[in-house]
Amino acid sequence: MQNDIREAAIGLGYIDARSVTGHPFTVWRNRLDQIPLGKYLSFEHDPVKATGWPLNKITIWVAVAPTPPVAEWPAGRGEIGGYYMSSGKRHKQNDAWEDAAEGLGYVVKRGVMLPERAAAIRAGLGVHGLNGLLLTPHKDYGSFVSIKLLLINAAPPDSARGPEHDTSPGCKQCGACRKACPKAAISEDGVDTTVCLRWYMNRLEDLPEGDYPKMGRRILGCDTCQNVCPFNAQIVKKEAPADMAEYMKLENLLTDPNIEKISKYIKLDAELVKMQALMAAANTGRADLLPLVEALANGGGTREKIARWAITRLRPSAC
Ligand code: SF4
Ligand code: SF4
Repeated sequence: MQNDIREAAIGLGYIDARSVTGHPFTVWRNRLDQIPLGKYLSFEHDPVKATGWPLNKITIWVAVAPTPPVAEWPAGRGEIGGYYMSSGKRHKQNDAWEDAAEGLGYVVKRGVMLPERAAAIRAGLGVHGLNGLLLTPHKDYGSFVSIKLLLINAAPPDSARGPEHDTSPGCKQCGACRKACPKAAISEDGVDTTVCLRWYMNRLEDLPEGDYPKMGRRILGCDTCQNVCPFNAQIVKKEAPADMAEYMKLENLLTDPNIEKISKYIKLDAELVKMQALMAAANTGRADLLPLVEALANGGGTREKIARWAITRLRPSAC
């Protein structure tokens, strides 16, 4: 039953798709109440409330798609994490799955925010990692996946898993991610997302200057805790696409980032890109980029503050 939904997902390039019931994600909600991130997330945890449908008429399909990590970005470029490099493709794929389900005659609820990782764990697609991510057992993908939920107005199939599966056994807690994290965001209790570098990429005004070196040459995303995870040990990384390798040259990002062309892969904000590129230039010792850095230093905003910091790093005699 509903095999056509799964077949549509596989046909669209998802790795796997499984169904779960619409019982509330209470384990997730209780966990969220205990961690700092909880106060920032307003996701509905009860699919009945989110859809307005009765429990016996909710099937949640959970699919995982590959978000392959990029092998070492060439020298002189900013870096984009694997998840973000796939975001343009992912949005199209997710829309196409919803369209396909409607084409098959199902009523689909779009735009509902439910806890995707909790649903994936209920579906048995992976376990919860200490780094806060879904760790799938697939050797080719590991934690480099995105999760998509498809809500349809139909009685769940007999194979749909319920809340008795919500308590993930978790990873083996080898601790590699904890040791590797540049921000010490991961502890024995898991990841504090509000300390993670990714959190600050949207809030650079709050990032302490002492942490600027920890950004390395990241422009968006941080794959460090995934790169060291044994679940990802066998993943074959791909080279950065040639066009992106060109767009991500720091001299381009510091002057006129080609946001339109980059949007083929990921939507970026030009101002944020420049701020990250300033740190990347300083962190990779690109003294040849000093004139471009200096051109961004006049003013009282966060970008100018980062530019002045970069100047002191690239020209230590600067005051
Ligand atoms: S690196 Fe180790 S502790 Fe961290 S998520 Fe992976 S298996 Fe778990
Ligand atoms: S994404 Fe980076 S900064 Fe965030 S927890 Fe993982 S290693 Fe730490």
